[in-house]
Amino acid sequence: MTRPITIGVSACLLGEHVRYDGGHKHDRCIADTLGSYFSFVPVCPEVGCGLPIPREAMRLEGDPASPRLMTRQTRIDRTVQMLAYCAAKIRELESEDLCGFIFKERSPSCGLSAVPLYGSSTSEKVASGLFASEVARCFPMMPLEEAERLNNTNIRNNFIERVILYRRMKKKNPALIHPR
Ligand code: SF4
Repeated sequence: MTRPITIGVSACLLGEHVRYDGGHKHDRCIADTLGSYFSFVPVCPEVGCGLPIPREAMRLEGDPASPRLMTRQTRIDRTVQMLAYCAAKIRELESEDLCGFIFKERSPSCGLSAVPLYGSSTSEKVASGLFASEVARCFPMMPLEEAERLNNTNIRNNFIERVILYRRMKKKNPALIHPR
């Protein structure tokens, strides 16, 4: 029997109560529509790196190329903690045979692009969330998308096709797309 195609998903999009305020961002398009094609590996990097639920909201600050993950009120720098988690989690994800990843947009951890960046000394005022950035760096050919964009039928269908194609490529030549 053919194994299901597996993709990673920001856990809050699947209805898990992992957000800073204890809520979720359940997305029916992902859970129901994409759920009929793929099986999911839910990941919440903020909870995974040891932060509680609920927790203080965070934001990205500083250099667009290496932003810091800072708590908004108490000004605690969570960057090292998050990057250590990312390194360990990516090693774990290598064994999951992922063929794609869907991220929650605008999150300082999960946003793939255009996450607001504060205190930048350059004209660049957006960056990638720390976890999404590490996934993109370590799985350079894997299809990645943000949840909001998948509400568009063309983008969604294109993502599904890219995931299926990536799975085929992986089967033919795993060395080509082995994580860095
Ligand atoms: S956006 Fe990412 S870090 Fe934030 S709650 Fe969702 S899964 Fe967790």
